[in-house]
Amino acid sequence: MFEAESEIERESMPVDVLFVGGGPACLAGALHLMDLIEKHNEGVAAGTIEGEEYDEPMIGLIEKGSEIGSHGISGAVLDPRALDELIPDWKDDSSFPLERYVEREAMLMLADEERGFPLPFMPPEFHDHGKPIVSIAKFQKWLGEKAEEKGVMVFPGFAGVELLYDEDGKCNGVRTGDKGVGPNGEQKDNFEPGMDLESPVTILGEGPRGHLARILMNKYGLQEGRNEMGYETGCKEVLEFPEGTIKDGFVYLLAGYPLQNIFGKGPFGGGFIYSMGGDRVCIGLLATLDAEDPGMDVHYLLQKTKMHPKVREILAGGKVIKYGAKAVTVGGWGCMPKLYAPGAMIVGDSASFLNAARIKGIHLAMKSGMLAAETAFEAMKSGDNSETAMAKFKEAIDASWVREEMEPTKNFHAGFANNGMVGGTIKFGLSKIFGSGEIEKLHADHEGMKKVSEFHASGKLPEQSAPGKYPDLEYDGTYIIDKLTDVYLSATKHDEHQPCHLKVADTEICATKCAEEYGNPCERFCPAQVYNMVMNEEAGRKELQVDFSNCVHCKTCDIRDPYQIIQWVPPEGGDGPEYGIL
Ligand SMILES: Cc1cc2nc3c(=O)[nH]c(=O)nc-3n(C[C@H](O)[C@H](O)[C@H](O)COP(=O)(O)OP(=O)(O)OC[C@H]3O[C@@H](n4cnc5c(N)ncnc54)[C@H](O)[C@@H]3O)c2cc1C
Repeated sequence: MFEAESEIERESMPVDVLFVGGGPACLAGALHLMDLIEKHNEGVAAGTIEGEEYDEPMIGLIEKGSEIGSHGISGAVLDPRALDELIPDWKDDSSFPLERYVEREAMLMLADEERGFPLPFMPPEFHDHGKPIVSIAKFQKWLGEKAEEKGVMVFPGFAGVELLYDEDGKCNGVRTGDKGVGPNGEQKDNFEPGMDLESPVTILGEGPRGHLARILMNKYGLQEGRNEMGYETGCKEVLEFPEGTIKDGFVYLLAGYPLQNIFGKGPFGGGFIYSMGGDRVCIGLLATLDAEDPGMDVHYLLQKTKMHPKVREILAGGKVIKYGAKAVTVGGWGCMPKLYAPGAMIVGDSASFLNAARIKGIHLAMKSGMLAAETAFEAMKSGDNSETAMAKFKEAIDASWVREEMEPTKNFHAGFANNGMVGGTIKFGLSKIFGSGEIEKLHADHEGMKKVSEFHASGKLPEQSAPGKYPDLEYDGTYIIDKLTDVYLSATKHDEHQPCHLKVADTEICATKCAEEYGNPCERFCPAQVYNMVMNEEAGRKELQVDFSNCVHCKTCDIRDPYQIIQWVPPEGGDGPEYGIL
């Protein structure tokens, strides 16, 4: 059954402040806002603050994952700076989901396929001794429970799909996605219209390449005159070992092979191996999405990393039990958009709050959420949600330790993107002595890819033996894993009878121009084997098949597609990966 949009009856729910995304940014923001309201109420009751008490503040938070944390993937070594401010006694809280504290750390330089050595020193940015290692999925769940205890209305399983505006054009909340819609837009028996969550202040913390954040940025020109955001994609696996094998908290950072090292070309990036609780260890690899090689496949590069003898030494005996992938916003301060518009603010990775020099974003995401919450509370009290009122958020960021940490590294990503590993390292070193200067210009990631004929002397991409499999790897299903098996380990599921949430504007380009020029790089860059060129015997050519049910919501395709004809939009709320322990 089709009902015209204008005939659909939607429930509206007014809230005071709405957070979009159940990541560290919004969860910390929502919790901090409840704390501010509590303190305000106490002050009013004690007569030390003028004003009215907020008896039943309506603070809402929506998350597209089926639970808070389902879509959470990170390293994660946590810099506890923001957490110390938000929950000062977290170390004494027995429910805190600590995996381990970092007790030893090293940086492994992998020179080539065989050789590697620990660096005699670690750059200061990477010192993590004593910091907690967490599973971000569990950390988010813990923060979500704290937020609910404080009275935040947490709605998991609800994706924000549209921004709402009031009659003055100010952002006025979010519409959540309809559920029970068939592949062609028809309403199924279980059809449930999305809700309008109306809010004078909307805080968008959707992580990298946020869907609504981008709509807001386009409407208000928030990225105009600034660098496009820069991204890497990270693939991560968790390995389980026999009981009693993993005895301490360790961190290995991986540099060089199979990514760019001082001897040669290749995508820029880095890797990590962290020990977790329960005899588990995770390994992850991040590679830049402006890589020149149209055949770059981060999942393959992660498997290559595990083949390295120095890495095998650490991971011997482990069995891969979990997989996930996600883009990371690495452009930092040098790519930050304008952070606000009338009635709205953007926080966390959606606004580039990540320090790529340390590969850390959780603490910055949290602090940005908390400062946005302070601006939101001022707006609640004054009733002013104008652009000028929202601009206080940027002032607060500039006056905080976020700027102190991020501003000096503003050209870190651009330095490497524009000058390669050696040039980037020298530039970053010099910036520490002479300052980081002006923001360096940076191309958009999708402009970085070269055509196959320009990059590969053979004029062809390296052969795959099957989708997501390469002939130089010995897949054993426990340690070296093909892409589709890893997708299975991500526990991703989508109702297949819904509209495809990966909107390819022109599939004719895929079958013709893209096949010739770039060799259909989507088959490689997607870390979940969503895109497959399949033979159409009648047409006598390969055509694109989008297996959207594999999608792990990493956003890589939306960023790296050289023609920019793929748009990622949220699928039905509750669908997607179930990361749980990542
Ligand atoms: C492989 C990897 C390793 C990393 N290692 C580290 C590390 O060791 N230490 C560190 O500090 N940082 C690390 N980071 C970065 C860190 O994870 C991020 O900076 C941080 O998670 C950003 O938090 P956020 O709240 O902004 O976004 P996210 O954590 O991405 O959370 C956003 C949430 O919003 C939800 N969402 C998105 N769109 C919508 C929508 N439209 N409607 C409803 N919900 C929506 C998503 O499902 C998600 O749960 C790593 C990242 C990766 C990928």
